[in-house]
Amino acid sequence: MLDSVLIANRGEIACRIIKTARRLGLRTIAVYSDADRQALHVRMADEAVHIGPAPSAESYLVGERILAAAKVTGAAAIHPGYGFLSENADFAEACAKAGIVFIGPSANAIRAMGLKDGAKTLMEGAGVPVVPGYHGEKQDPEFLKRKAYEIGYPVLIKAVAGGGGKGMRRVDKAIDFEAALASARREAQSAFGDPRVLIEKFILNPRHVEIQVFGDGKGEAVHLFERDCSAQRRHQKVLEEAPAPGMSAETRAAMGAAAVAAAKAVNYGGAGTVEFIADGSGPLRPDGFWFMEMNTRLQVEHPVTELVTGVDLVEWQLRVASGEGLPLAQEEIRLAGHAIEARLYAEDPDNGFLPSTGRLELLMLPEGEGIRIDTGVEAGAEVSPHYDPMIAKVIAHGATREEALERLSRQFGVTWVAGPKSNLAFLAALVDHPEVRAGGFDTGLVDRDLDGLTGGAVSEATIAAAVATLVAGHTPHEEAATGWIDPFAENDAFQLSGPRVSGLKVTVDGQMRDLPVRWRDGQPVPDGQEGDGADIPGIAAWSGDAVWALEGGRAVKVALVDQLARTVEAEGGKAAIPAPMHGKVIAVSVAAGDAVERGDRLAVVEAMKMEHAITAPRDGIVEAVLVAEGAQVDQGAPVVRLREEAEEGA
Ligand code: ADP
Repeated sequence: MLDSVLIANRGEIACRIIKTARRLGLRTIAVYSDADRQALHVRMADEAVHIGPAPSAESYLVGERILAAAKVTGAAAIHPGYGFLSENADFAEACAKAGIVFIGPSANAIRAMGLKDGAKTLMEGAGVPVVPGYHGEKQDPEFLKRKAYEIGYPVLIKAVAGGGGKGMRRVDKAIDFEAALASARREAQSAFGDPRVLIEKFILNPRHVEIQVFGDGKGEAVHLFERDCSAQRRHQKVLEEAPAPGMSAETRAAMGAAAVAAAKAVNYGGAGTVEFIADGSGPLRPDGFWFMEMNTRLQVEHPVTELVTGVDLVEWQLRVASGEGLPLAQEEIRLAGHAIEARLYAEDPDNGFLPSTGRLELLMLPEGEGIRIDTGVEAGAEVSPHYDPMIAKVIAHGATREEALERLSRQFGVTWVAGPKSNLAFLAALVDHPEVRAGGFDTGLVDRDLDGLTGGAVSEATIAAAVATLVAGHTPHEEAATGWIDPFAENDAFQLSGPRVSGLKVTVDGQMRDLPVRWRDGQPVPDGQEGDGADIPGIAAWSGDAVWALEGGRAVKVALVDQLARTVEAEGGKAAIPAPMHGKVIAVSVAAGDAVERGDRLAVVEAMKMEHAITAPRDGIVEAVLVAEGAQVDQGAPVVRLREEAEEGA
């Protein structure tokens, strides 16, 4: 067995690889960019090497830096994870040249499968069914249009170098062909530096069914059954499961054999995935699936295969890379139960699924029965704009599909994310969708039903509960120590024993809102909030001195408008000037002793990529600057203190 491995990746996959490597007794070496100094994968590894600035093009994608880190630490092997350098044949070659084992297939196998056109030609030769279409050299628009006509509409234009659904266009009518071709080529050129495309028959009611394969690099290969990844949004996987609903033993055998033939055709070594598109207009059939592409790496969704086979695929990768044979023969690999994975992302489903970045103020990912969580972040971590905004993979396993779905659904009920927006509510709606429950749906389901799967809001009642929690005035620092409060149990926010407030103007995610109030025992009670709170659909939780209202996978930040003033008073009188919101201090413009005039800039705080200047409320002398450049500040935290007015004349 190898004695050490450097993981050329970050986030959940780096953490997941470290776990298995450590169990097998390997020394583990992490690499990190400036943005990942505090990251979980860095803390988990035995050693860590800094490889450059935050942008991945200057760190995780720079082969020479990774190799230099491997040499300095004496790493015997490099595991590339997925993404980054995992399918870079030149990098695989450079590792070999440096005498370091690349954990993956040979550079030749990566190249053979790297371009969709060449791979399809190769597969045809190996007797693997491929989607009917044109994948030759000619690229002139007239010729391609004729091919599209011959194939028959609807067709799919795909970038030869494609990945992640980029450079892909469905065309239903000949009249739309030229425009779609031009835009696919433009996208392919900008994403991959290669404008070439191929044309495929668009399979109606397509299901995405892929086969996990494993080769020893010496001509032997096995498969570890299928994964169904038909729950997609814009050709990107959202849920993945194994086995595929409605899969018969006969179809499984046919697909498995085709995938093994594909792997053997390139003398495949290590873990790989052969992706097929299947006709989902009826039950899956042995003659109703076609090769799309082979991914020459460990996939994001590999845990579902691990849960239904009991195989640790990273262990297999490390063993095969060490020169051992395949750990199990085909007939020894068994399928048990059902597993489903959901990808939890920091993104905003109500705003076009745009990535959402920032500090994870709250993150609760409990691991219940039959639940596996693969994550690379903890509460307090930043979701960086530089990388994929995945927060975690939540994977459920059960004896049956119903049990696995039920466990996943229940899991979402105890999972909370606050800070960046997340797709948690969307995922929860999706696993409860009747068509998902029924199984066997096609890849268009999510986009067709997007309206039903998004929207929704945190209810007034939960927001009011959060306001009551704020009003009750628990000291944030106490709560931070315990993390979570149940506003309806021991803290009993509804007794409203905290300081009096003049009114209940609040902000919800920064938007001003008036909350109807009544008064009870001389204290304000949010309208409709009385009694034990049993009818409140969500919960409220502190983070720093903010309170979040959480309900159904959604989270909004609630603040009292007059809270600023109260905090400031507590922190040293009216002379202290507070931060207007939670953010990062990107500039401090004054120093102690400076004379300032009303309106002068004191400091600049950045939040949500917007800059806010903090200005002097009056003329005076700066007594103290209470924050440093680069510091994170909470809303209301004192930033600068001016001398008390009385002192000034002295
Ligand atoms: P990429 O490499 O860009 O991810 P793929 O070739 O893997 O592209 O296809 C991505 C997704 O697009 C598939 O999972 C499937 O949903 C859809 N798709 C691909 N080819 C076809 C086809 N011929 N007909 C219908 N849908 C397709």
